[in-house]
Amino acid sequence: MSGKDRKTYTGKCVDCGSPLELYEIDFKKGRKIMQCTRCGLFHFYKKDFFGKWKLVKVSRVSDLWKNSK
Ligand SMILES: [Zn+2]
Repeated sequence: MSGKDRKTYTGKCVDCGSPLELYEIDFKKGRKIMQCTRCGLFHFYKKDFFGKWKLVKVSRVSDLWKNSK
């Protein structure tokens, strides 16, 4: 990780195929939320063992992880 805090575009929306932009990131917990720039769908990523981001779930709400603490 380079620690850039500008918007990074990685991946595509599973629904409409539009680019995703960073919505929220937590380096300590190794997870981030990307939001579709077109339909607003949230994509939840977790860092795997090798430090790669892996898509774990997709939702219309952004606070799924906050509820599942
Ligand atoms: Zn979309």
